[in-house]
Amino acid sequence: MSARVAFVTGAGRGIGRAQADALADAGLAVAYVDHDAALANEAAEAAIARGVAAIGLAADVSDYAAVAAAAQAAAAALGPVEVLVNNAGISPKSGADGRRAEAWEMPPEEWRRVIDVNLTGAFNCVRALSPGMKAQGKGRIVNIASVAGRTYCDIVGVHYAASKAALIGFTKHLAGELGPYGITVNAIAPGRIDTPMMRGTASTANEAVRLSTPLRRLGQPEEVAATCVFLTSDASAFVTGQVVDVAGGWLMT
Ligand code: NAP
Repeated sequence: MSARVAFVTGAGRGIGRAQADALADAGLAVAYVDHDAALANEAAEAAIARGVAAIGLAADVSDYAAVAAAAQAAAAALGPVEVLVNNAGISPKSGADGRRAEAWEMPPEEWRRVIDVNLTGAFNCVRALSPGMKAQGKGRIVNIASVAGRTYCDIVGVHYAASKAALIGFTKHLAGELGPYGITVNAIAPGRIDTPMMRGTASTANEAVRLSTPLRRLGQPEEVAATCVFLTSDASAFVTGQVVDVAGGWLMT
């Protein structure tokens, strides 16, 4: 039997890499998709060295033509894509202290870029891959949102919060549209997870988050990946339209 195929965006590092690796370890063939071709290829080569079918693909998720080309390349190399993890995301910060821009000083192009990557990027991948899932009569989509999409979080900018809130609405709507075709759509809302993105924020801010997190620690990418494996496995076949926090209790609502 050929392996189920996953397409993971932002898979070059951080949470995306951990999710792609965990899916590979769970027996899936994996397309590692990232803006950064070198990171995508290096991650895929490491998986191949472990005996997994994998391919590294360079694509900016905000560019529909690039996403459609990557989707075609993944299917040609590995087979029909059944699992999509919309993970690629950005959270711009500036200065040595990793400060967000406040709404009144935010360059309009920064607002647009965050919405283009975090929200339109997920739409682009669904647009490119859901027809194939419908044809198979099965599919799993996992969108990586954030606890900052549901409540105020003083670390992130308004563009990021708005994009992650929108991803939650996107998840619920798509669960309704795609459910009749055997496709589940869920979101994960991570709290503070130790990745290069998180390290772009001042360490004092991350320490404040740690202290206000009931479990009194930051999360690891592998802990988000474990939930992703669950949401793409048979064990979650009747779960759709849900948002699962992996946040140690931080900003629970
Ligand atoms: P990260 O360390 O910055 O990794 C993100 C990866 O996505 C990078 O490899 C990056 O590549 C890639 N990427 C960025 N823009 C892209 C684009 N337009 N097209 C394709 N790939 C792109 O971030 P992370 O912390 O792992 O975050 C992963 C996801 O989790 C994001 O959606 C983030 O919002 C979400 N999240 C993270 C946290 C946290 O505390 N870390 C909390 C809540 C939610 P380049 O380096 O080439 O840009």
